[in-house]
Amino acid sequence: MTECLFCKMIAGEIQPDTVYETDDVLAFRDINPQAPTHGLVLPQRHIATLNDIGTGDTELIGKLYLAAAKVARDAGFAEEGYRAVMNCNGRAGQTVFHLHLHVLGGRDLNWTPGSAASIHAGLGAPWDGGVVWAGEFPSQTGW
Ligand code: 5GP
Ligand code: ZN
Repeated sequence: MTECLFCKMIAGEIQPDTVYETDDVLAFRDINPQAPTHGLVLPQRHIATLNDIGTGDTELIGKLYLAAAKVARDAGFAEEGYRAVMNCNGRAGQTVFHLHLHVLGGRDLNWTPGSAASIHAGLGAPWDGGVVWAGEFPSQTGW
């Protein structure tokens, strides 16, 4: 049996709050949203990190982004703007080692990101005096 949380969701052992699904990708709401809308888009096949993709995965990666854009359209913030972003390994704050895009929208998104990832990694971030959004958006409505 897999130990991967997202593989358990794909296998139906855990029920995510799914918003979109195809044979190749699955999208669901993040359990700890960092914005009014925070979706996760992942491949149905287990790939641990961005470092583990190969030349045979190029179409799959394209499909992840197509799904991310659909999630944004369906959530109604495609035109105003959003972020589709992938964390890779510890210093970027990756905590679930099954490749996934975060789709964040519904608020202004600072650039560059830093706060939450710094907390994950236990690192100081002297360049980042910005707001930490963790836990600020318990409910996601309207999509
Ligand atoms: P990462 O930190 O790896 O880039 O992102 C992992 C994401 O998975 C986090 O945003 C976290 O809130 C989310 N997450 C962790 N456990 C669960 C869960 O059980 N259900 C859902 N829907 N999201 C989860
Ligand atoms: Zn997995």
